[in-house]
Formats: sequence, C-alpha cells, structure tokens
Amino acid sequence: MRPLDQITEEEARRVEGLILDLDDTILDHGYLEEEAFGALHRVARSGLLSLIATGRPAGWGEVLARQWPVAGVVTENGAVAFQRIGAGVERFERVSPGERQQRRHLLECRVEALQERFPELRLADDNGLRRSDITLDVGEREQVPAGLVREVVALAKSWGLRVTVSSIHLHLSLDGDDKASGVLWFLRERLGVDPTRALGRWAFVGDSLNDAPCFGAFSLTFGVANVSRYVSQLSRPPRYVAKGERGAGFAEIVGMLLARRGS
Ligand SMILES: [Mg+2]
Repeated sequence: MRPLDQITEEEARRVEGLILDLDDTILDHGYLEEEAFGALHRVARSGLLSLIATGRPAGWGEVLARQWPVAGVVTENGAVAFQRIGAGVERFERVSPGERQQRRHLLECRVEALQERFPELRLADDNGLRRSDITLDVGEREQVPAGLVREVVALAKSWGLRVTVSSIHLHLSLDGDDKASGVLWFLRERLGVDPTRALGRWAFVGDSLNDAPCFGAFSLTFGVANVSRYVSQLSRPPRYVAKGERGAGFAEIVGMLLARRGS
C-alpha cells in the first residue's frame, strides 16, 4: 500500500467512476458524518459517477438509491442492485423469483442447523430487509471472538454456503456473487460499461474482507486507514491508503483524487 499522495495525475484522470464500500469506509461506526456525505456530493458535482457496493440489505439499497447522489447501489455483497429511474427506484437481481424462493427455503434450513451448533450466534438486526442472504452479527451489537467466527465460516462452507465476512457481519448465502461480480454485472447491464473498461477505469474504495474481490479485481483501489486491520488477510491489498480512518479517510481520498484530476 502506498501513501495516497503518491497517486499520479495520469492515474487520477483515467478514473470514470468510483465504487464505494459503505460501513467503516463512508460510515463511521454506522454513522454518516457531514464530511463523508459532502465528499459524495463533491464526486457527483465533479461529473464522476459513483456506485455503493455493500453487504447491507436490499432494503437499505432501495433507500440509498433514492436519496443519495449515486448512479446505483449494489447490496448484499453483489446479489441485489438498485437504480433510480425517473422518480422511482428499480431493483435488479440475476435470480428469478421462483429460484429466489427455493434458495431462501434451503438457506433458512441450513442457518437453523448452524444456530443449533452455535447457540451463542445472534442474527443481525437488518435481516428483515434482506433477500439473498441471512446475516449473523459478529461485530455490530455483538462482539464474536475471531476464533469462533473462523469455526462458523469453516462449517458453513463445508455445507455449501457462500460465506462473506465484513467488519460487522457474517453473511450466509446460496448466491454465487461477490461485490466485484455484482458491480461488474450492474455496470454492464444498467450503465452500459464494458467489464474490461470498468476494471481499468472505475476505482474502488473499501476497508474490509468483503472488499477483497474488488481490491483484487480493479486496477486502481484505495483503502481507508482502518483497512490496516485486515491487510494481512487480503491477497491483494489496496494500491493506495489514506491517513484518515472511515469517513474522514474517504473524504481525504476524494479530495486527493479530484485535486490530481484538476477538478
Ligand atoms: Mg466496510
């Protein structure tokens, strides 16, 4: 990881859009500070597009797509996306309604069995807004020891579940998507951006392990300072890192990127 101020004008000028993680990247422990929201508006005013890519539920995506200055919101780690169209918001997912129902039933059975094995596990409080996954709270209201998280991950994977861990949540799903595949699908289908072009021209900003697919896939990537907690577990760390943590780090990245672009 290089210090943020080493980014060159050429790299900054190649950027056509930003893909942004939400928790502990834009949000500070779940809270949206003025500085971070101001940075989102600065991005929009500069003419760059931005997308939110989060593990948060579909229900959040519908609200954010309606209210925030972004071109779309990809939720549930790539599975369900939202786009503002005219005065409304539309939902996009690759799974048909019938298939979604079948997967839901199977997923509920597996998670029930997992909770029987680990009765101390608690569901995250945003499950009512989710479509594709069931999510356990490992660091939001509950503090689950890392060793126990590893045990749960190993068992869930052995049962054929896709497991994604963020700084706060452990997501269990039967969908194959991750943040990178979900974002590339949305960019192609909804914004007409060729995936190869997206990988070279869209930059990613994140902080955690569920961002690993995006840190690995996109050529220009940024971490807020708190990414240092997970760097040893990322096969490819972000290219540049901010001095500030969370929302302040995000605003610092936006400031540097726009300054280098001369906008
Ligand atoms: Mg995050």
